Amino acid sequence: MQYQDFLKRVDGRVAPRAIVPPAEWDPFVNGLRCAGGVPLAVLAPGSVDELRAIVRVCVEAGLPVVPQGANSGLVGASVPDASGRHVVLLTRRLGAVRQLAIADAVAVVEAGVRLSQLNFMLEPHRLQLGIDLGADPSIGGMIATNTGGSRMMRYGDMRRHVLGLEVVLADRDATMISNLRLTRKDNGRVGWAPLVSGAGGAMGIVTAAAIELDPLPQQSATMLMALGGIDAVPDLVIELRRALGEFLSACEIMSKAATEIALRHNPGLKNPFRDALPAQAMLVEVSSGLDRSAVDVEAVLLGATERLFAREAPGVEDALVVPPPVAWALRHAISDSLKMEGEVIGLDIGLPLAALPAFHAKAAAMLAADFPWLKLCDFGHCGDGGVHFNLVWPSGTGPAHRESARDDVRMRIYEAAVGVGGSFSAEHGLGPSNAAAFARFTPPDERQLTQGLRRIFDPWELLARALPPA
Ligand SMILES: Cc1cc2nc3c(=O)[nH]c(=O)nc-3n(C[C@H](O)[C@H](O)[C@H](O)COP(=O)(O)OP(=O)(O)OC[C@H]3O[C@@H](n4cnc5c(N)ncnc54)[C@H](O)[C@@H]3O)c2cc1C
Repeated sequence: MQYQDFLKRVDGRVAPRAIVPPAEWDPFVNGLRCAGGVPLAVLAPGSVDELRAIVRVCVEAGLPVVPQGANSGLVGASVPDASGRHVVLLTRRLGAVRQLAIADAVAVVEAGVRLSQLNFMLEPHRLQLGIDLGADPSIGGMIATNTGGSRMMRYGDMRRHVLGLEVVLADRDATMISNLRLTRKDNGRVGWAPLVSGAGGAMGIVTAAAIELDPLPQQSATMLMALGGIDAVPDLVIELRRALGEFLSACEIMSKAATEIALRHNPGLKNPFRDALPAQAMLVEVSSGLDRSAVDVEAVLLGATERLFAREAPGVEDALVVPPPVAWALRHAISDSLKMEGEVIGLDIGLPLAALPAFHAKAAAMLAADFPWLKLCDFGHCGDGGVHFNLVWPSGTGPAHRESARDDVRMRIYEAAVGVGGSFSAEHGLGPSNAAAFARFTPPDERQLTQGLRRIFDPWELLARALPPA
């Protein structure tokens, strides 16, 4: 179908404002870690009715639809492919906060609301959506990818926060189903909303959600620990959980290679350690919803660290209390800084924490032997077993056939992760970047079940980017 034919089909069914002119398509067709595509059209409906009208047109014409929130996804699922057939459906104008139920600590928000907007509104009520990450995603995108983030060990992932959803299906009527509710306790129905969370949009377009909120911390403190290597991490996390109890809110690791690059490209950041950078640094955060008159979390953190040193915790070489903005600025600088050193191959691995050292040793040895031009710059959320096992490919190095080398290294790292009981996609969801891994590592019966469920929400598989076709 040509663009003009599509416009004729939507004419009179949506307001002119919903049609994004081709001159403005650029930010919506290029993904962060994937090649840009060519859409048939880009639309930004201003209401759920308008969104349903567009979906009806797409279903009638058999056109695939790509829902898009903030386009901060990292697996290529939020942008069209090169076929020129995809209709990109932006949720950014679905931006209403429909209800703030403070007594219930629940917000009912539309899909296009950004995480930062929601948290700004919640601050006076000492509430937040506690998921924290280096991007500012939309609520719909967070649900579709089941965002994890740095404080998952404290607050859980996005699925954990979803009490109910309003979803538009990709069937002929663009059926809208909704179980938006404020109650946490409701076993009077079969819960389908968790199926939508993490399905990348393949099980319907989220238009609104009832989100369970978290208390906003009144104080926090952070420490940077210098570790001799990755082997120390599992036991240290166990020790920290025991020593810090419910105050522990984040445990992040930053390898020497990743930290060095962040410091090199951000002159405003300083090496916080007394000596040279350690092989691995661990950022430990404690926080509390109580104020300092009730408890001093920095004192809790210092006391726990002193006890760790008194017992000579293995692998911990140094520990420094650093103001939270300083510690997090270093951690959040890593992702963008790596891009300045070359192409980044982002590998979002989820592991049982005890298996982290074995996985790391095996994968690092494989890289040194078979991909010596790639630089391992790992970092991530070790408190929940999530590791960004990112590789930097400096320009002018390695073989000319980049694509096959890239696919090969990806699959071999995924194999190493799955081999120790881990996941090839910890928190970034499913999409073209990891479709081959989904096909390879998901058992056939589970894939079949997934496709069966998907067809209930999307009978013609038009919400096509997140899950590969059957
Ligand atoms: C610097 C940086 C740091 C990041 N750190 C983390 C991190 O720590 N943890 C983490 O989990 N992620 C992280 N991410 C990934 C990313 O931010 C998340 O995947 C994000 O939640 C996606 O939200 P979005 O609104 O940008 O969605 P998009 O990128 O627009 O879309 C992502 C997927 O969701 C689908 N989708 C979007 N909106 C809807 C909707 N309304 N209904 C149905 N499907 C929809 C899209 O089709 C696509 O499949 C990071 C990204 C960046 C750039």
